[in-house]
Amino acid sequence: MNPDVSVVIPVFNEQQGLPQLFARLYPALDALGRSYEVVFVDDGSADGSVAALREQYQRRPEVTRVVVLARNAGQHRAILAAFTYTRGRYVITLDADLQNPPEEIAKLVAAMDAGADYVGTIRLRRQDVLWRKAASRLMNRLREGTTSIRITDQGCMLRGYDRSVIDAVNRCTEVSTYVPALAYTFARHPVEIEVAHAERTVGESKYSLLRLIRLNFDLMTGFSVAPLQFFSMSGIVIAVLSLAFVAYLAIRRLIVGPEAEGVFTLFGIAFFLIGMALLGLGVVGEYVGRIYEQVRQRPRYLVGAVLGGETGPAELPERRRSEIAAEVTALPPPPVQRAGGGQE
Ligand code: UDP
Ligand code: MG
Repeated sequence: MNPDVSVVIPVFNEQQGLPQLFARLYPALDALGRSYEVVFVDDGSADGSVAALREQYQRRPEVTRVVVLARNAGQHRAILAAFTYTRGRYVITLDADLQNPPEEIAKLVAAMDAGADYVGTIRLRRQDVLWRKAASRLMNRLREGTTSIRITDQGCMLRGYDRSVIDAVNRCTEVSTYVPALAYTFARHPVEIEVAHAERTVGESKYSLLRLIRLNFDLMTGFSVAPLQFFSMSGIVIAVLSLAFVAYLAIRRLIVGPEAEGVFTLFGIAFFLIGMALLGLGVVGEYVGRIYEQVRQRPRYLVGAVLGGETGPAELPERRRSEIAAEVTALPPPPVQRAGGGQE
């Protein structure tokens, strides 16, 4: 029997916070009065996270699954890995650091009962550092302007997806992606609700500035070619303006004579244009790099071990299923043992 609700939680070096997460998550889910499963996905943790997850699995084996990735694949790929192991009618994602209160899951379930197949969330009084909030506002606005994805708060990972949306996501094979945006493209009745947000009380954010920038490039390049168009359009405008300027100079030369002033203005303009050209090249590079990753067709993640449930991932197209089977068998020692001892 498939459960009503699957909860997916990516875990990357969250050992300190996990006991608290378990202590709040399971009672909140028990209180739903629905059948549920929790699918934890360990994203290559190097601390005791895997051991803690295994213990929790032993405590509640009937409602817990643990997918252990062999290496760190990144939050979004880890979530995609976990999706293939979910069986629930509704799938809810949530961070492991308790920034998304598990008690809010009931609200998402209620929204999906009411007919939504995609429940986005908006963090009320988001508890993050100032520069993160400012950067998010900017990126949200940029994405709204360049894609057809209508999400108010793209960074909040407490989200609900209907099985139909998850099945569609499971058929996608892109290497780099942004789960909430990808799922949105398959939603027929998306809604948004407000949820509480808490400060991270234990551990640190796993996103450095560089990782955040990369993630936002994943979002931009994965869902829009507007950045490329911006540069081709700018190129056209600059070319037309320069042509007009050269014509003006030619005429001026015939009437007034040659001019030699304004050398530094010229420098200024030239450096600005060089900067734009380099930026444009970089943007093209972001796309080309992702195309390169995609054509190599390497697996997006390696599943090291799975605890609980039937062995294979849920219904998947044949190609993906064999890909995952290959990943599982190609692996050396089971990570469950690795967890106790030292990590690489
Ligand atoms: N995470 C992950 N893999 C990563 C980075 C993060 O699975 O490479 C998980 C992490 O354990 C947490 C969630 O993704 O459950 C969100 O990460 P974090 O709280 O560090 O991000 P922030 O809240 O600062 O955006
Ligand atoms: Mg967090």
